Amino acid sequence: MTSEGPRLLLGAPIAAEIRATVANDVAAFRGRRGFAPTLAVVLVGKDAPSAVYLNQILRSCEKVGITGRLVEIPGRASSAAIRHEIEALNADPMVAGIIVQMPLPKRIPLTVVIDTLDPAKDIDGLHPRNAGLLSLGYDGFLPTTAHAAVEILKRSSIPMSGRRVTLVGRSNVVGKPAALLMLREHATVTICHSRTADLAHHTRDAEIVIVAAGVPGLITGDMLSPGAVVVDVGINVVNDRLVGDVDFESASRVASAITPVPGGVGPVTNALLLTHLVRAAQAQASNGRGHGALHLAGSRQ
Ligand code: NAD
Repeated sequence: MTSEGPRLLLGAPIAAEIRATVANDVAAFRGRRGFAPTLAVVLVGKDAPSAVYLNQILRSCEKVGITGRLVEIPGRASSAAIRHEIEALNADPMVAGIIVQMPLPKRIPLTVVIDTLDPAKDIDGLHPRNAGLLSLGYDGFLPTTAHAAVEILKRSSIPMSGRRVTLVGRSNVVGKPAALLMLREHATVTICHSRTADLAHHTRDAEIVIVAAGVPGLITGDMLSPGAVVVDVGINVVNDRLVGDVDFESASRVASAITPVPGGVGPVTNALLLTHLVRAAQAQASNGRGHGALHLAGSRQ
């Protein structure tokens, strides 16, 4: 913390750096294989907020030379029809990666998607195989938002090893995988959730706080220790404005570094998804289906 306020951890420069590497990798892939890798983006039913997000992804694909394919499934489609569509993408050799936009219509169980996705094309790390690889410390596909929360710290040279990190949120897509990734970085990790008693006690104890709760303004400055680093994953619409889960104004008076919303984790998430896609394409090109040998992602000590 300084009199000028905290260091802003901006996503845009990091995302640009990541996209530049992806563009090179895509060009190299294209040079070797003669075609660009394809990302299939599946949208079940029309949903305005996710349609905006999907368009951003498709635009990012275009910028780096990845072919984006939007697969629209009517909102009234049955579970069997959705499964059938995903199986067709699994079998399509041109498609390297598949993401399915959430939330699904309420009557479609999440397992319809998760269990059907080919883990080798599951570039957002939803499939139990990828979740299992992450929890055992092997290199699988990581849930992209959780990956972005950690990558933003890494690329901002914020040390994680040995530091106390508190996660607020334990969802399978963000909180839980981010906690596992912080463990991989040798942090000492506390996971809080909606039933945590005395949340402020745990956030105040932390040197790094990562918040993914979906509750606007949940974390205020008085819940942070002076000099804390704050990563706000939350995206909420309040009075037509995007806000995070952290009350930016009060947190900025206490934190040493903080991600803004919008403009923090979001752009990095978007860029990292492209790296996952390229990795899937490379793995499938070299070993057929992409289920290669297992590799440990870091030291277990
Ligand atoms: P979720 O609803 O699945 O999970 C929320 C988690 O927060 C749960 O584990 C819950 O126990 C916890 N929680 C809720 N209220 C709490 C409280 N009062 N105190 C402590 N813990 C509480 O949500 P999610 O999918 O993990 O998403 C979390 C946030 O991240 C949302 O705002 C979402 O929009 C945002 N998000 C951002 C990106 C991105 O790219 N930046 C991507 C995905 C999600």
